[in-house]
Amino acid sequence: MTVTFLDLAAMHRQLQPALDQAAAQVLASGHYVLGPQTDRFERQFAEYCGARHAIGVGNGLDALLLSLRACGIGAGDEVIVPAHTFIASWLAVSYAGAVPVPVDVTPDTGLLDVTALERAVTARTRAIMPVHLYGQCVDMDAVNAIASRHDLRVIEDAAQAHGATWNGRRAGTLGDVAGFSFYPGKNLGAIGDGGAVVTNDDRYADILRKLRNYGSAVRYRHELQGINSRLDEIQAALLGVKLPHLDAWNARRAAIAARYLADIDNPEIVLPVVQPRAQSVWHLFVVRCARRDALQEFLAARGVQTLVHYPVTPGRQQAYAGLLGDRSFPVAERFSAECLSLPMGPHLDDVAVGAVIDAVNAFS
Ligand SMILES: *Cc1c(COP(=O)(O)O)cnc(C)c1O
Repeated sequence: MTVTFLDLAAMHRQLQPALDQAAAQVLASGHYVLGPQTDRFERQFAEYCGARHAIGVGNGLDALLLSLRACGIGAGDEVIVPAHTFIASWLAVSYAGAVPVPVDVTPDTGLLDVTALERAVTARTRAIMPVHLYGQCVDMDAVNAIASRHDLRVIEDAAQAHGATWNGRRAGTLGDVAGFSFYPGKNLGAIGDGGAVVTNDDRYADILRKLRNYGSAVRYRHELQGINSRLDEIQAALLGVKLPHLDAWNARRAAIAARYLADIDNPEIVLPVVQPRAQSVWHLFVVRCARRDALQEFLAARGVQTLVHYPVTPGRQQAYAGLLGDRSFPVAERFSAECLSLPMGPHLDDVAVGAVIDAVNAFS
C-alpha cells in the first residue's frame, strides 16, 4: 500500500459542495479583494484564536514582515529567531531591515531553547520571534518573562500552530502580534496563498490594516509606506468554510500522533516530546534517527512517503552566507541532519497509520 504524506484533495472532497457554493458566491458578487468575505473571515479567525483582531494578508511571510514593521522594527535592530526553522521566519526579519540573531533549539522538541535566549540579548535587540514549529508552542512563559525584562516585543511565528495552546491559551494571543500562514499544507490552508496577523492590540491592528493596503485606510490617502498584501475574497470565503472543521481535523491529527507515540518502538527512532503546558496541533510528526536518509529510503520502498523539515538550517543556507561567522548551533544542525516527518493529516485512516508504524518498526 502507498501512504501519502498529506492528501489535500481528500480533505477538500469532504467539503466539496460547500466550497463550490462559496467560490460561486464570490464569483457572482463582483467583489474580489478586501470585501465582506474577508471581513467575516477575519472576525471568525480572531474569535477562533481568542484574540481581538485578525487582519488578512497575502501569505505567512508577509504576516511576519508586517508584524515586525507594525512593532516599529527596522534597520539597525536585532530580532532573536530559532536556529532551526523554515527560512521564512528569518526572511521576514531581513525584509524588515533588521538582523536575525539565532538561538539554538532543544533536541527533544526542536523548538527555541529558552534557557539560551537571554544570552543572545544585546543593546540592539528589539524583539523575539518564537516559532511554534511542528504545531507545538514555545515556552511562552519564559519568552514573555525575558521580553518584559528587556522591553522587547514578541512576534509569534504561528504558521504551523493554528489552534495550538500554551497554558490553555491559543497561539496568536501569546505575544504582542502573531503571523499565521494559510498555505495549502498548513493545518488551516487556503486553495492558494493566504495569511493573517492576529493581535489583541488595537493600535497594532490599526497600523496593520494600513500596512497591508499601501499604507492606506481611506482610498488614495497614504499615511504609511505600506505594501500590497491582501487576502483575496475567494480565499477568505473558502477559509471560512474550512475553519469550523479545524478543531476536528486537529483532534484527528492528535489521535494519529497518540498512536505513533504509543506503537512506534524501534531503538533507532527518537520520538517527539510535548511539553506539559503545551497542546500540539501536530502540523508535523517529526522523529529523529541517526541514519535518517537510510530510514527515508527504507520507508519509501515500503510505500510510506516522508519529508524532511528542514534539511538545512537557515544559517547554513546560501541566502545567509556570511551571517553566522564562527557561530555554530550544534543542536539545530544535528536536528536538521536527523529529523524525518512521518505522514500526518486528517485524511490518514487507521490502516494507513498501522502501515506507517509497521514500516518504521521494521527498520534496522
Ligand atoms: C509556512 C511557514 C511560513 C511562511 O508562510 P507562507 O504562507 O508560505 O509565506 C513561515 N514560518 C513558518 C514556520 C512556516 O511553516
